[in-house]
Amino acid sequence: MSRIAYVNGRYVPHADAVVHIEDRGYQFADGVYEVVLIHNGAMVDELPHLDRLDRSLRELRIAAPMTRPALRSVMRELLRRNRIRTGLIYMQATRGVARRDHPFPKNPVTALVMTAKRVSLPSAATVENGVKVISIRDIRWERCDIKTVALLPNVLGKQQAKEAGAYEAWQVDDNGYVTEGTSTNAWIVTKDGELVTRNANQSILNGITRLTLLKLAEREKLRFVERGFTLEEAKQAREAFVSSATSFVTPVTQIDDAVVGNGKAGSVGLGLREAYLAYAAGEGRTP
Ligand code: PLP
Repeated sequence: MSRIAYVNGRYVPHADAVVHIEDRGYQFADGVYEVVLIHNGAMVDELPHLDRLDRSLRELRIAAPMTRPALRSVMRELLRRNRIRTGLIYMQATRGVARRDHPFPKNPVTALVMTAKRVSLPSAATVENGVKVISIRDIRWERCDIKTVALLPNVLGKQQAKEAGAYEAWQVDDNGYVTEGTSTNAWIVTKDGELVTRNANQSILNGITRLTLLKLAEREKLRFVERGFTLEEAKQAREAFVSSATSFVTPVTQIDDAVVGNGKAGSVGLGLREAYLAYAAGEGRTP
């Protein structure tokens, strides 16, 4: 079955899904995006993702492409046409097509494209053995809380990780603190068992999975704190993991050359992963 994409009001075969060369997303990265997990045929945390999309648009003063009910119906139609049960929806909204000029165009019409694809989730072996991350300098701008399509530092970082045989690159600020991965949030469990993830400010994307995990941690009565942690603290942690819509909770067992804990996935991360999967199969889903 061929894939179908949504492009500015039309459902088109993926191979024919094109936008104008003067789309400001293409020329200026003047746009935002969202990724929603599809798990067993239902969306997970759909509404929080749409809330974050609205926020990103607002922060950049881009008009919403359509009403929320209309957007939700396009998402469903795209899933139906692509028959996705496990995968993701990618949506991107830009400040539209205009003659190339830096200031906002006079009457911009927000452009919206959406694709859906199957993805394979991390294997049982990956979860059990954990993954390696490398550390890199965080060279991004000061509004990492906005989910913009301007992802060049993230692209370069992820490529560096790949070339080092690692799953992810943790970005480290000038004070030695880990901000986040290139497409995931970063977590540790300290030697005395406290769960730690960086507080959400303008230096990180406030992951929807991160927020759900904090909610689940509270419910499970885990001891947790939102604060910065240094790369050194992470290397000495008992456990580490990353979170995102498509990686859920993926244990980290190596940071640069340091083995984390006993080199196997830790119980706090695995417990949260289980709790997240139950959430994704239950209250977190919207059919
Ligand atoms: N941090 C960055 C830089 C990301 O790009 C992402 C996801 O794409 C995340 C964190 C995790 O966010 P979420 O849990 O909403 O997928």
